[in-house]
Amino acid sequence: MSSRPKKPVSDASALAKTAILAVLKSRPRTRDDLFAVVRQTSSRLHQSQPATHELLAAYHEMIADRPNLAASRIERMLVKARVRSLSGVAVVTVLTKPYHCPGRCIYCPSEARMPKSYLSNEPAAMRALTYRFDPYNQVIGRLRALTDNGHPTDKIELIVKGGTWSAHRWDYRREFVRRCFDACNDFTAHRRRTSSDLATSQRRNETAGQRIVGLTLETRPDFITPPEIVRLRELGCTRIELGVQTTDDKILTDCRRGHDSSAVIRATALLRDAGFKVDYHLMPQLPGATPESDLRMLRGVFSSPDYRPDMIKIYPCAVLKTAELYDWWKSGRYRPYSDAGLLETLIAIKKELPHYCRVSRVIRDIPSPSIVAGNSVTSLRQVVEKEMKTRGLACRCLRCREIGRVAQSDPDILSAKPTLFDDIYEASGGTEHFLSFEDPERRAVFAFCRLRLPGNVSDQHNLPPEIRGAALLRELHTYGHLVPIDGHSPKSAQHHGHGRRLMDEAEQLARQSGFKRMAVISGVGVRAYYRKLGYRRRGTYMIKCLN
Ligand code: SF4
Repeated sequence: MSSRPKKPVSDASALAKTAILAVLKSRPRTRDDLFAVVRQTSSRLHQSQPATHELLAAYHEMIADRPNLAASRIERMLVKARVRSLSGVAVVTVLTKPYHCPGRCIYCPSEARMPKSYLSNEPAAMRALTYRFDPYNQVIGRLRALTDNGHPTDKIELIVKGGTWSAHRWDYRREFVRRCFDACNDFTAHRRRTSSDLATSQRRNETAGQRIVGLTLETRPDFITPPEIVRLRELGCTRIELGVQTTDDKILTDCRRGHDSSAVIRATALLRDAGFKVDYHLMPQLPGATPESDLRMLRGVFSSPDYRPDMIKIYPCAVLKTAELYDWWKSGRYRPYSDAGLLETLIAIKKELPHYCRVSRVIRDIPSPSIVAGNSVTSLRQVVEKEMKTRGLACRCLRCREIGRVAQSDPDILSAKPTLFDDIYEASGGTEHFLSFEDPERRAVFAFCRLRLPGNVSDQHNLPPEIRGAALLRELHTYGHLVPIDGHSPKSAQHHGHGRRLMDEAEQLARQSGFKRMAVISGVGVRAYYRKLGYRRRGTYMIKCLN
């Protein structure tokens, strides 16, 4: 697929209407057919293809004037699959090139041509392989697909996968991220520009049409060191996915992870004190674990201030043919839980989660034919949620309470009065405030932020100089972008001033606790927002004096 940027649209609304007329005339049977007509119309007029939300807006405008044009089938095709942007940010996942990971984890598959741990039939990996792991083309391809499916792409969470990021050479890492920024800068720009260096590309992204508001990288706990923190910030990283798997040292040793739980504790503290969001990968049913020990481990993760991650991804251990665990399974040394056992473990985990944690996944995207033993139900999350509902249980995690998600089954929640909550907890030697606007019953979250008031950081030299002694705003998020099937767009939670009010509250709390400065680990694409709130860039953070 070509990555050439398109010409600007002179009148997006007129083009969208012309395209909709062509669509109505051709009566497409599928979404692919529909977008083929849109593409043909745009290219005939030498224009860029309109985004799906523009097509939808044009459609609504047209049927308001001429109701006889209404075609519910076309409308359904246009609004389909919007669920992916319910969190308000479009996710773009890319993979680094294959390389030799220093890890020796027994459950980890190896496939020729793929980065360690990834299979060529996983969706994101398949896309990466198509683009030969070229970061620029992966991003452009993904943005095109999201645009075609009607997702707004103005705010992007970029997730870089591919095993242990920090094990790659530094020049490769910097170049990889620079090309991702370049792709976002070029996507709707009038002309393609290659930035001379990463900082230039990031500066351009501050005003680009597609702004990277968050950058997530995945790595091992034992690779997190003070110099690595500085490098991560230089790249614009805001969140780390940490391969924790379990906090049980015996299981970590048996699985040849090559680090123990103290590495996890150290990495979590370093990351949190530098303002990063911390996302743990946890793996139930590892060799040596039982449903009971998994539940104990998870309870420990949230009861001990040494851990308490902001997010978790649950990847139940599975036997894959190219992993050493396959031999263990064949010889009878390892047996995964029964389906019922795994289901009960996940329900037990989900029903005990704190309000501040988001469970991003309960299963990895491995196609079932590749799984020799272990869970092969690809809709495991839905199965767990359905079973919890039947038993009258609810998960309090952030994802399950995102306003867009809750409103799908309960539209009345959109008119609930937002109430401010403050969950306070100790973590890694500091105090965390999870401030949120939610409905009074705490069933849905409109917006939230994570404020960290660091305790006595034992060695301030471990921190980037610009944030020493500062309170830290680790995350600010407002939810929105909801277009229901009837085409009426209820008010989005974004842009309703919740973000601003949360910032005021966080600054006030920091001031009351004696902090004179606030540091925000801002994604590159949101620096402009913080400037409007009086923040100025210092090093890789946005800083404000609180006097
Ligand atoms: S560190 Fe990660 S990528 Fe490397 S072997 Fe272990 S699980 Fe696989």
